[in-house]
Amino acid sequence: MGLKIGLTGGIGSGKSTVAHILVELGAHLVDTDAISRSLTAKGGAAIEAIRQQFGPDFIDATGALDRDRMRQAAFSDHHILQRLAGILHPLIGQIAAQQTLQARPGQIVVLDIPLLTESGDRWKQQVDEVVVVDCQPETQIHRVMARSHWSREAVEKVIAQQASRSARLAIADHVILNEDLDLDELRQEVNKLWRLWNNAA
Ligand code: ADP
Repeated sequence: MGLKIGLTGGIGSGKSTVAHILVELGAHLVDTDAISRSLTAKGGAAIEAIRQQFGPDFIDATGALDRDRMRQAAFSDHHILQRLAGILHPLIGQIAAQQTLQARPGQIVVLDIPLLTESGDRWKQQVDEVVVVDCQPETQIHRVMARSHWSREAVEKVIAQQASRSARLAIADHVILNEDLDLDELRQEVNKLWRLWNNAA
């Protein structure tokens, strides 16, 4: 494998769009959000541990994590999310490491990590460089309202729970400012980084 890049950004920043462009350019993508979802889906590797720690009521009839139930429980006991993270984080780390090794020799690996900033050093020490996709909160709100048909309040709530824009920028080696850019212009910005990494290799 080649360089390992940690890609992050707040909700609606355009992080997934940038990840997709990097794959088109030839990167090997490791999507930690997708890994997390698969761990708690039917037959997922975290299901048994969740059943043991939280009880069978937290597994729905299909055999997947009952997300509504978990959300309700987390609402009344904020340690619940920490306990769930205690199950999921080591597994996500293991699977991400396995998937990273599937890159071709020299291929740039992009780890898409929504909560890279929030996770302290845990992910940062696994990657060579951190790329932050950045834009104004108002732009995040408009994008997510259009993409997912959420209310403004729902998006604002998630933004308030995530790391601040300045905390994210503070850990960035590169910033892609995805503001007032059309998709072609965004592609050009991503391509600049791609060329930089390939020339440095
Ligand atoms: P994230 O993964 O950060 O939540 P996405 O990559 O899904 O964000 O982007 C949010 C929405 O905004 C998507 O519908 C995406 O197509 C759109 N979008 C992102 N960047 C741009 C851009 N530069 N021009 C037009 N649409 C964009």
